[in-house]
Amino acid sequence: ARRAALARAGESGATRDGRPVPLLANIGGPQDLDAALRHGAEGVGLYRTEFLFLGRRHAPDAEEQERAYRAALAAFPGRTVVVRALDAGADKPLAFLPPPGEEPNPALGERGLRLLRRFGDVLDAQLGALARAAASETAELQVMAPMVATAEEAAWFAEACRARGLRKAGVMVEVPAAALRAASLAAEVDFLSIGTNDLAQYAFAADRELGTLGDLQDPWQPALLDLVRLAAAGASEAARPCGVCGEAAADPALACVLVGLGVTSLSMAAAALPAVRAGLGEHTLEQCREAAEAARSAGGPGQARAAARACLPALD
Ligand code: PEP
Ligand code: MG
Repeated sequence: ARRAALARAGESGATRDGRPVPLLANIGGPQDLDAALRHGAEGVGLYRTEFLFLGRRHAPDAEEQERAYRAALAAFPGRTVVVRALDAGADKPLAFLPPPGEEPNPALGERGLRLLRRFGDVLDAQLGALARAAASETAELQVMAPMVATAEEAAWFAEACRARGLRKAGVMVEVPAAALRAASLAAEVDFLSIGTNDLAQYAFAADRELGTLGDLQDPWQPALLDLVRLAAAGASEAARPCGVCGEAAADPALACVLVGLGVTSLSMAAAALPAVRAGLGEHTLEQCREAAEAARSAGGPGQARAAARACLPALD
C-alpha cells in the first residue's frame, strides 16, 4: 500500500496549464504518516513537533526525538519534509518551558521562537536530533521557526540551524509585521511558510480560540488575502519559495486563490489533498490569478468567496 501511495505521490500538484504546486501534508507525529501517504502527499509541509512534547514533565530525549523525525523522513525518500521547531507557549504551554513571568496576554507573550531563544538548550537538542535523523535519509529536511516577527529573528534562527549543520532553514509568516517585511525576512533564510491561522488571529486581533469571533478569523477576509499576497511577493523579490501551511490551504477554492496570490506550495490536513489536487488541476494559473484579484476586491469574506468561485467554474 505504501508503494502504491508513493507512486500516486509522484503525480505532482499542478494547475491545468502545468504550473507545479507541491501539495504537502501537515502532520503531528509518525502516527499521521500513513494518512499522508494514502492521500498522495508529495512530502510533509508542516510537522508540528510540539505534539511530541505536550503533556510531558521533560522534553523527550534525543533518541526519542530522532526516531520521530526519522520516521517522517523515511516515509518520503527523495522528497521534502518541513519540520517546525517546537511551537510552545500561548495555547500550547509546556511545564518545562515557562515564560519568565505572569503573562496577561499569552498569545502576545513569549511563545514560539521567542521561547526557544530563552531555552536555547531545548532548541539545540531538537536541531541536533533533526540533523542526526537527516544524515541517513534521502528526504530533504527543511526546518522552520514559528512566530517570527523580524528579520533579526529570522537571521538568528538561520544561524542556529547552520551551527547544527542543517542546510535548509525557513520561517513562518504568522505575524503581520513579518508579512509586511517579507523580503527582508526571506533574504535571511531559504523559504517562507505562511500560517494563516495565526496570521488571521494577529491581523484581526481576534483570538483563534474564541468561537464567537469566527467571522474575523475567516480565511477569506480580503485583508488576510492582502497579507498573503505581500508575503508571497516579498519572498519572490528575494527569490525564495513561499508556501501556506495554515488551514486555508485545505479549501479547494481558497487553494486556487492562494496560488493566484503567488504562493508556491500548499500544505494541509491529508484528507483535504485529493480535492485540492483536483480543483487546482482543473484551473489555469491565469484563472487562479483572476480569482485572487476578485476575492481581494470584495468587501468581506462572503463576497470574496462568491467572487472567487465565479472565476473557478470547475468547482461548482
Ligand atoms: C498557523 O498558525 O496557521 C499554523 C499553521 O500553525 P498552528 O496552527 O500550529 O499554530
Ligand atoms: Mg501558528
